Amino acid sequence: MSGKRDYYEVLGVPKGAAQDEIAKAYRKLALRYHPDSNQGNEDAIHKFKEAAEAYEVLSDEQKRARYDQYGHAGVDGSGGGFRDVGDIFEAFGDVFGGTIFEDFFGGGRTRSRVRKGADLRCDVVLELEEAARGVTKTVSLTRHIACETCSGSGAEVGSQPEMCRRCQGRGQVVQSTGILRVQTTCPICRGSGKTISKPCKTCDGQGLKPTEVKLEVKIPAGVDDGMRVRLPGEGQPSPDGGPRGDAYCFIHLKQHSIFHRDEHNLIIQLPISYCQAALGTSLDVPTLDGKRSLEIHAGTKSGTVYRLRGLGMPDPHSGAKGDLLVETLIEVPKKLSKRQQELLRELAELEEKEITPERKGFMDRIMEYFTAPNSETTKTK
Ligand SMILES: [Zn+2]
Ligand SMILES: [Zn+2]
Repeated sequence: MSGKRDYYEVLGVPKGAAQDEIAKAYRKLALRYHPDSNQGNEDAIHKFKEAAEAYEVLSDEQKRARYDQYGHAGVDGSGGGFRDVGDIFEAFGDVFGGTIFEDFFGGGRTRSRVRKGADLRCDVVLELEEAARGVTKTVSLTRHIACETCSGSGAEVGSQPEMCRRCQGRGQVVQSTGILRVQTTCPICRGSGKTISKPCKTCDGQGLKPTEVKLEVKIPAGVDDGMRVRLPGEGQPSPDGGPRGDAYCFIHLKQHSIFHRDEHNLIIQLPISYCQAALGTSLDVPTLDGKRSLEIHAGTKSGTVYRLRGLGMPDPHSGAKGDLLVETLIEVPKKLSKRQQELLRELAELEEKEITPERKGFMDRIMEYFTAPNSETTKTK
């Protein structure tokens, strides 16, 4: 849009108007064209922004002087730097005397700045069996509660907290750098709007004291190391009457002596002897639900995996269970009795004569491997 309206005309004040007159005029327009009472009315929103821009320039003596001398060109870039209506509230909260918007509209959008309390963390260490079935654990948290001596005010008994002079009790201050205006938490009172000259000795003026709280945490079946359980509303209290923060309980899983966990599956290594592997056998294997019989087939190799379906860990959300994977590990004995040696020697002699088809195939491949490159090189020549 070309041809901006004159700022004095926008605010409806004479050229020589005093600052309080300008502020008053702006306040009136801002209330009339406030977006909350002009929902969807583009013209009102335009007028609201126009008034804010005019006020931004005319309320600043330097900018006003430049504007008076050069018109819009003199303040180009300083007006209209607002991204949206929210920015205007952020920037000019002060002109409304803190609560006008609240009273008028039942809670302006920038005034209802209620902060949630901080989150807390706790840790719990579980056995694999506990993680598999789910468990209720008692954890302790250090949470703040109001100091009993000063009833949470932070001021010594008999004295009162005073209104913060820096922010006039609003807890927020507007800082401006060029056209950018940022509303931040007051650095003096840290947002409380109050300062304490005589701090309570019990809580050192904090109004809070750390207290140990014990909580029962229901941990769902299937949780894994590093997961966390949220405890809504169990965190620190809000500094300004808002909701409490949350607590997060972090899960740590102990290493198990037998079972290794791989997400929803459990893995065990089952040592078997050469004879058991060769002849096949039936063995008891441990599961989280007690022993299970497992059939080892004759001719089982080392590293063969038997899958026992549904004997793994449950999924914490769906409850669907993973599998138990049993991996065979053929043990070679280090010490042999005389009798064992005799039998093995006999077996070895027998093996020399009766070469298994598998080993025969392997030996054939070795022969091919050694002869093949030579034949190839002769071919290429
Ligand atoms: Zn106290
Ligand atoms: Zn303050």
